[in-house]
Amino acid sequence: MESSCPSCGSPDAAEIVYGLMDFETFRANPGIVLGGCCVSVEDRRCRACGTNFRSDGVPVDPRESFL
Ligand SMILES: [Zn+2]
Repeated sequence: MESSCPSCGSPDAAEIVYGLMDFETFRANPGIVLGGCCVSVEDRRCRACGTNFRSDGVPVDPRESFL
C-alpha cells in the first residue's frame, strides 16, 4: 500500500527531503518537499491537508518530533 495521509486519507503525498539539496535536483523532482535542516521522523507531507507523516505507517509521537 502506498503511503496515505493518516489525517485525511489522501494518497497524494510529497516526499520530504531534509538537509541540503542542490537546486537542479529540486527542480527536477517537483514531488519533493524541502524539510529544512532539522531532520524529523516524518518523510511524507500530505498535499491535501499539509500533515507530515511517516511513509512506513508508524504513528508519529509528537514528543519525538520536538527533540
Ligand atoms: Zn491529509
